[in-house]
Amino acid sequence: MATSSDRGLGSAPPPPPTAAYIHIPFCRQRCFYCDFPIAVTGFQSLTLDGWVGEYVEAVCQEIAGQQYLGLPLSTVFFGGGTPSLLPIAGLEKILAAVDKSLGIAPAAEISMEIDPGTFDQAQLHSYKNLGINRFSLGVQAFQDNLLTLCGRHHRRRDIDQAIMAIAKENITNWSLDLIAGLPEQTTADWHSSLSLALEAGPNHISCYDLVLEPQTVFDKWEQRGKLALPPSERSANFYRHAQQALTQASFHHYEISNYGRPGYECRHNQIYWRNLSYYGFGMGATSYIDGKRFGRPRTRNDYYQWLEFWLNQGGIIPGERVAPLENLLESLMLGLRLTAGVTWEQLPATSAGAKQTILATLTSFGDRPWLEFYERNNELLSPEKITTAAVQRFCLTDPEGMLYSNQILSALFAALEED
Ligand code: SF4
Repeated sequence: MATSSDRGLGSAPPPPPTAAYIHIPFCRQRCFYCDFPIAVTGFQSLTLDGWVGEYVEAVCQEIAGQQYLGLPLSTVFFGGGTPSLLPIAGLEKILAAVDKSLGIAPAAEISMEIDPGTFDQAQLHSYKNLGINRFSLGVQAFQDNLLTLCGRHHRRRDIDQAIMAIAKENITNWSLDLIAGLPEQTTADWHSSLSLALEAGPNHISCYDLVLEPQTVFDKWEQRGKLALPPSERSANFYRHAQQALTQASFHHYEISNYGRPGYECRHNQIYWRNLSYYGFGMGATSYIDGKRFGRPRTRNDYYQWLEFWLNQGGIIPGERVAPLENLLESLMLGLRLTAGVTWEQLPATSAGAKQTILATLTSFGDRPWLEFYERNNELLSPEKITTAAVQRFCLTDPEGMLYSNQILSALFAALEED
């Protein structure tokens, strides 16, 4: 069997990171679809005394232990969990540690996930004063029955208050996040959620498809036949409707689940989709540095133990660099999520043989309008002109190719692994 090096797949590591993800794990309760690494807090207000402060301290130690690799950060992302449950002083402390160890570039995008019912206008004002300049509001659905069914703690009145606080604070760089394909979600529910999302006035909207993760409450209900998910054709129509409604409202559909008005596309997430390096800090966070992908332990105590070990070892990222073939597959999987697709230059050192395999696989879908191939001057290539020399960029069509992305990626993976 041919090896990666036989096929000429290179293994040069990507440049040092310019992005950092910081995991804030606190959630009031666990939503029924969620398998993220979180710590359930209940409904009391959090303070930095006790275990919350201990976590902040640990994250700051991890950041301080990370060697500076030569480039300041152009994006920082506080994700969770629910970062808006963390007291402002905790965020301030972590941001100061990030700036001290890694440096935050002057025009950096600093994003934060916020949930309805966990912040008010005064908090937003404080976040802005810290330099946080992009917010992602986890609405998920506007219907109380669906929110209850998902185990979300917030309700429609919390969403309305959150949107009002964002408007009063004159925040323009914010995303409203929705989930499509929830149990019992009707076409009318989805259309209404999209209309209300547009009315709220964000410049970015994310529409994620519900994914059934193992061991979640939804997964258990599904196994017992108690989860009333929308039929797949209805879910596909949700996707088509979102694409139509949002692009008509001048949103750019730039990634399979993400729409932004020009200039409001999330810079941080584009680093993931381009398979570039990033730091990760906190329990469960993944980093990708020097070609090594590394996931931290997903529970607090295991994370603290790992952190102690890692600091004692001098902050060296363990493990091997991602193998060239795996790196190519990841770049394809991530890059084809973008409506702009991928160019050969964006794929890691792809050999002529691998290029041929990729094109042969993609053109085998020729009778279905799922893919487009472009030449260097961005002209669309007709099928008879598609060759590895002529093609510069290829992408999935929007929305139809995006709807079949799993099928296309499975074929690509099988062909490249067999090659
Ligand atoms: S709020 Fe988000 S991170 Fe927390 S449990 Fe719900 S889905 Fe998971």
